[in-house]
Amino acid sequence: MNVYRVLRRWNVRPDKALGQNFLVDQTILRRIAEAAELTSADVVLEIGAGTGALTELLAQDAGHVVALELDQQLIPILEGELSALDNVSIVQGDILRLDPTQLIQTDGQRHESSPLQYKVVANLPYYITSAVLRHLLETDSRPEMMVITVQREVAQRIVARPGDMSILAVSVQFYGDPQLLFRIKPGSFYPSPDVESAVLRVDVYSQPPLPEEESDAFFTVVRAGFSQRRKQLHNSLSAGLGERISKHEAAARLEDAGIDPRRRAQSLSVEEWIDVTRALSNAI
Ligand code: SAM
Repeated sequence: MNVYRVLRRWNVRPDKALGQNFLVDQTILRRIAEAAELTSADVVLEIGAGTGALTELLAQDAGHVVALELDQQLIPILEGELSALDNVSIVQGDILRLDPTQLIQTDGQRHESSPLQYKVVANLPYYITSAVLRHLLETDSRPEMMVITVQREVAQRIVARPGDMSILAVSVQFYGDPQLLFRIKPGSFYPSPDVESAVLRVDVYSQPPLPEEESDAFFTVVRAGFSQRRKQLHNSLSAGLGERISKHEAAARLEDAGIDPRRRAQSLSVEEWIDVTRALSNAI
C-alpha cells in the first residue's frame, strides 16, 4: 500500500494528537509482519491500524485480523482500502477502554471449547505504550505474543537486564520474554517522528511465575523497592511499604532470602523480586 497516495485519495492529514506517524517503508512493514510468525491458525489484534498498510500484510498470513483504530476519520479509509480482504474485521474504538478478549471473541472463528489465543501487532502512539502494555498483560487473557513498535529508548528499557532494571522492565519481564528485534529510523514514517523507534517482540508466558493472588503483593513490593531507587533496598522497601516493616527487619528478611539488603532496586531480576516478595509476605 502506498500510504501517501491513500492519504491524498481520501484527503486526510495525519493527526499528530493521536500519534499518527504512518509507516511508509514497505521493507519495514514486511519485517514487522514476519516477526509475528503468522499462520492461518492465528488471530491477530492490530492496535492502531491507521490506513491499513500493516493490516494488509498481516491478513496475507493470519487466519483473521481484528484491526482496531481510534480515529473515526480513518475508518472509511480502512473499509475502502481493505474491502477485498474477507479475513479482516475493522473496529473503531480506544484500546484502553476495550477488553481485548471481547474484540477477539467477536471473530466468528473462535471455537468455544479452546482457550483464547491471539497475537497483538501494534505500531503504537508513543504516549500510550506503557498503558497499553499494562492493559494487555494485566488481564486474564493475555496475548501469546506481541510485536510492537515503540520509541527506541522505551524498547531498551523494557529489555534491560539486572543493573538497569525499572518498574517497566520488571512488569513486562514478569509476564514474558521481551526481545528488541530491530531499529527503525524516523525517515521510515510519514510524518517523521523526532525519535528513533524499535520493534519489540514479547513472547508471553502461558503462566506468569506467580499465581494471580500473589502478583498484587509482587507489584506492591516492586513499587516500594523502586520508590527511592537511589537508596539501599532495605531502606526503600521499608519507606515504600509505609513503615509496615522497619528497615532493620527488612534487612534481616532480605539476608534470610539470600539477597544483600544494600543492593539497589535496579540490580534485581524478576526471580529475585519474587524471593523478596516471599520474604516480606506477612508485611504487605
Ligand atoms: N498501523 C499504522 C502504521 O503502522 O503505519 C498506524 C500507526 S500510528 C503510529 C498509530 C495509530 O494508532 C494511529 O492511526 C492512531 O489514530 C491510532 N490510535 C491512537 N490511539 C489509539 C487508541 N487509544 N486505541 C486505538 N488506536 C489508537
